Amino acid sequence: MTDSPVWHPFTQHALQPPMKRIVSTEGATLIDQDGNRILDAISSWWVITHGHRHPAIMAAIRAASERYDQIIFAEYTHEPAEELARGLIEVAPPGLTHVFYSDSGSTAVEVAMKMALGYFHNTGASRNRIVVMEHGYHGDTIGTMSTGERGVFNAAYEPLLFAVDRLPFPHMGAEQQTLDAFESFCRSGQVAALLIEPLVLGAGGMRIYPPSVLADLKRIAERHGTLVIADEVMTGWGRTGSLFACEQAGVVPDILCTSKGLTGGALPLAATLCTTAIFDAHLSTERRKTFFHSSSYTANPIACAAAVANLGVWKAEPVRERVAALSAMHRQRLARFADDPRFAAVRQAGTIAAVDLKVPSGGYLAEIGPRLRTFFKERGLLIRPLGNVVYLMPPYCVTEADLDRAYDAIEEGASLVRCGV
Ligand SMILES: *Cc1c(COP(=O)(O)O)cnc(C)c1O
Repeated sequence: MTDSPVWHPFTQHALQPPMKRIVSTEGATLIDQDGNRILDAISSWWVITHGHRHPAIMAAIRAASERYDQIIFAEYTHEPAEELARGLIEVAPPGLTHVFYSDSGSTAVEVAMKMALGYFHNTGASRNRIVVMEHGYHGDTIGTMSTGERGVFNAAYEPLLFAVDRLPFPHMGAEQQTLDAFESFCRSGQVAALLIEPLVLGAGGMRIYPPSVLADLKRIAERHGTLVIADEVMTGWGRTGSLFACEQAGVVPDILCTSKGLTGGALPLAATLCTTAIFDAHLSTERRKTFFHSSSYTANPIACAAAVANLGVWKAEPVRERVAALSAMHRQRLARFADDPRFAAVRQAGTIAAVDLKVPSGGYLAEIGPRLRTFFKERGLLIRPLGNVVYLMPPYCVTEADLDRAYDAIEEGASLVRCGV
């Protein structure tokens, strides 16, 4: 229990031990009020890419804050947003030509779905079905919850969630079932868009599928005039080894959502990129075809300046090499779990490494998460398992020694599960 008025996200305050305050951040480390250094092995919920407080990004924030605060983004525009849009189009898969700003991953996906539905509405087709993948996660607003996996996290809101069509996850050897399911949904002629996390389903348990499946899904979508929305909110900015995960499949989505690593994790910002066809469907002298979406803080100039600086870091520094080095470090360290009977499904996509802990019973599953979190915390590690899935997604500046500490703790933590301590 706590006497603070703050209500924290995804936190059961009745069970949560008192929270320490973080007083500063540095590289891959959080520093708490007692001076303890905690390895941020999950990049503060997947947002920090290069490391905390990258000097170039923080300098850009300081400089922008000397000139700007929030500026209305209708009637007027500003240089950080213009420069960022040009920069995003340059690095994004070719064919994405327009950039719509919002403030979080959830809103980026809401915007994407509205773009897709607006496209069909404005071009006279009555398509309104959205196809998603089983175990997907696209955010916590009512719309994005509707598209995500249903369960305890959204049971209370179920009556208000809209219906979507779900593809089975493409398990190895069963990929064709996923493709066939998509093809048959598309045949209805009602599918506006496939909304999908490319290569890695993050919150759904770091489930990884091969680029070829994404490429095949895109081909089917094209055949049926269905749009593909790539939710790259987690996978973007190097996480899976390439700047965007779609690149590995050679896929250019019709709409791409980016947020978490967009500012290197320093400030909240999101962008939804789309093709000319989608923009043009909203381009008309008829006002009713306008894209009716905005949030008050759209394209905050300081956040845009941070994102421009992030693009600069990608250009000026060997970020791709760091991503490759971190991927190799994971590969070496994951190998030790391959033959360990306590682990299953040892897997990796670039800088993301995950293992399933074999748990004695399903009932126990619910208990193990909090226990493991405490176990890791006591060792100065911020690691938050998703059920029995333990994963590492550290900032790219993480050292070999820090990573070793994390892997050693995971190995030790597995014994905890076995003994039921
Ligand atoms: C985190 C996440 C979101 C939601 O982003 P928020 O900024 O938390 O709203 C959407 N999609 C994916 C794939 C995510 O990982």
